[in-house]
Amino acid sequence: MSLTGSVAVVTGGASGIGRETSLALGKAGVKLVIGNRNAQQGEDVVAAIKDAGGVAVFQQTDVTDAPQVRALVERAVQEFGSLDLAFNNAGVDGELKPLHEQSLESAIKVMDVNVNGVFYAMKYEIEQMLKQGHGAIVNTSSILGLKGTAKFGPYVASKHAVIGLTRSAALDYAQRGIRINAVAPGPIETPMLSSITGGDPQSFGQAVPMGRIGQPREITNAVLWLLSDEASFVTGHVLTADGGWGAQ
Ligand code: NAP
Repeated sequence: MSLTGSVAVVTGGASGIGRETSLALGKAGVKLVIGNRNAQQGEDVVAAIKDAGGVAVFQQTDVTDAPQVRALVERAVQEFGSLDLAFNNAGVDGELKPLHEQSLESAIKVMDVNVNGVFYAMKYEIEQMLKQGHGAIVNTSSILGLKGTAKFGPYVASKHAVIGLTRSAALDYAQRGIRINAVAPGPIETPMLSSITGGDPQSFGQAVPMGRIGQPREITNAVLWLLSDEASFVTGHVLTADGGWGAQ
């Protein structure tokens, strides 16, 4: 699988799944622009990529702000001359409560980051990729983008929406050299899962058919494959990596 020499943006690239994937892309010889809000975490990932011999820059980005997302894409072109790959992964979880108890503020934020953020990212990435005539995009949905779950309405809705955006955009550009897919992780050991479980992410393992939660690397492997030419006939696909959760 060769991604060497490609240029990528990764949103939410400084933590959890995004961090692991950024490190792996850097090791694979991809030149990276990492976009998230926390500059310290972003610069730490950039330093780790450089220490391992890779090439990366950080661009402070709030994905709910369309001009900032456009600037993230422009940075890739300014720094490295193109945008070949994108991993639109930034996301937030929101509240774990029945729907009528969800605060408007939290529900709106979840939709803004998880849905609008992916829309803005794809819009500006695709504008650039159309100029080049090629590109590959992976959006982070969730196994909860394919199934209902109690007490998690806005998050579940947002991740269903990511799949809708992915499939529709895949059709828009299927004949224009741009592949667009989604990854649908099950519970993965990251700061987000720690927060959802009150600090005990392993507790989610009992709900997984394999009997354990996943590791970020197990999502990274799926993302790298979808971004690579090994997946050249794959578009509009939702790749679950969930220990069997979706099979239930
Ligand atoms: P994480 O460690 O909390 O990482 C989330 C990332 O998103 C952080 O880098 C965060 O950076 C970024 N982010 C949040 N809001 C942002 C905003 N407004 N603008 C830019 N970046 C923003 O969580 P994770 O588990 O790796 O989650 C990554 C993705 O996987 C999410 O889309 C999540 O929904 C999805 N997912 C996770 C699991 C799981 O079990 N962990 C399962 C299924 C799907 P800043 O705070 O610095 O902005």
